[in-house]
Amino acid sequence: MRPFKYSAANDNNSASQMLAVNTNAKFLAGGTNILDLMKEDVERPDELVDITRLKLTQIKTITEIVNNGGVSIGGLSKNTDTANDPIIRQNFPLLTQAILAGASAQIRNMATNGGNLNQRTRCSYFYDTAMPCNKREPGTGCGAREGINRMHAIFGWSKDCVAVHPSDMCVALVALDAVVKVQATGGIERSIPFADYHRLPSDTPQKDNNLIHGEIITAIEIPKNNFAANSSYLKVRDRASYAFALVSVAAALELNANQIMQVRIAMGGVAHKPWRALEAEKFLVGKTANEANFKQAAEAEMLNAKPLEHNKFKVELGKRAIVRALTQAMNGGTN
Ligand SMILES: Cc1cc2nc3c(=O)[nH]c(=O)nc-3n(C[C@H](O)[C@H](O)[C@H](O)COP(=O)(O)OP(=O)(O)OC[C@H]3O[C@@H](n4cnc5c(N)ncnc54)[C@H](O)[C@@H]3O)c2cc1C
Ligand code: SF4
Repeated sequence: MRPFKYSAANDNNSASQMLAVNTNAKFLAGGTNILDLMKEDVERPDELVDITRLKLTQIKTITEIVNNGGVSIGGLSKNTDTANDPIIRQNFPLLTQAILAGASAQIRNMATNGGNLNQRTRCSYFYDTAMPCNKREPGTGCGAREGINRMHAIFGWSKDCVAVHPSDMCVALVALDAVVKVQATGGIERSIPFADYHRLPSDTPQKDNNLIHGEIITAIEIPKNNFAANSSYLKVRDRASYAFALVSVAAALELNANQIMQVRIAMGGVAHKPWRALEAEKFLVGKTANEANFKQAAEAEMLNAKPLEHNKFKVELGKRAIVRALTQAMNGGTN
């Protein structure tokens, strides 16, 4: 590991300021991703600004912002605390399921919500500094595009990068129309709709998201919804633990008798950002909740998939995962 300066921030403003004056500094939260990347020589910040002392661990309802029943979770709340919070378990069980599908208990105890959003891809070429990678070193090429790309994208990839975003939590958050609250130097705040937070690779795969250097994730807000009774997160992976999704699906239904009033579907393991399955949603609104319609919705979504040489199986897997997640959601969210 290369030498780096360690600094600790006491409030949001000084944290942003410390990054603003050093373009090669990074925030340190739970450290479960950034420290691994530094040990592998993939990330090379010359300063880490420890933000764990900031008071950003709230989980509170935000009746003043969202009509009666939305929730605000802190950027520094631990993944474990977020998943197990009674408000989240009761009102947003999709988020609980998605978080608990990720990593391991020990890692979730350290990992923060802000860190989860900003964790980097698990593309093996990104981690291997002997291989070309436009995300790690822009302009060097993409080892995965013509290489072993079984784990890679089937939607939204570019010639410069075919990586996928690794988070489970983010798949639930994009399905739930979450909003990311960020703060920059001088206390300037902005809100980014979750669907616009992460980026597709295009010709700048080195940028995972639309956060500006120095901005800190202070909170994630989720508006009230009527999905609690009928939501389900399904993760398909090579191993039951310590494995990232081959394909995952977050599905949420608002039903009136058997009719679909509202539906949210998002996928993980298929794109550079958590993928909102808008074609499938469009097909299902107003229809009867049943397997035949779920299958047609899955077909509609997968029509636009562009698999690579080694991940053609993800198209059929994605269809089946959408149908199964929706069926589980319809049946009350049981796995
Ligand atoms: C073995 C292993 C298995 C895993 N499996 C899964 C899995 O199956 N599913 C899954 O979703 N995840 C998985 N993870 C990833 C894990 O969820 C992330 O490492 C974790 O969420 C990162 O959070 P952190 O607080 O430790 O972030 P850190 O490592 O501290 O930071 C990560 C990045 O986020 C930035 N950052 C952190 N907080 C903020 C903030 N508030 N504002 C702005 N920037 C910030 C940091 O500067 C850094 O760039 C796994 C990790 C490991 C090590
Ligand atoms: S897919 Fe992206 S992260 Fe992986 S090698 Fe190609 S450029 Fe790098």
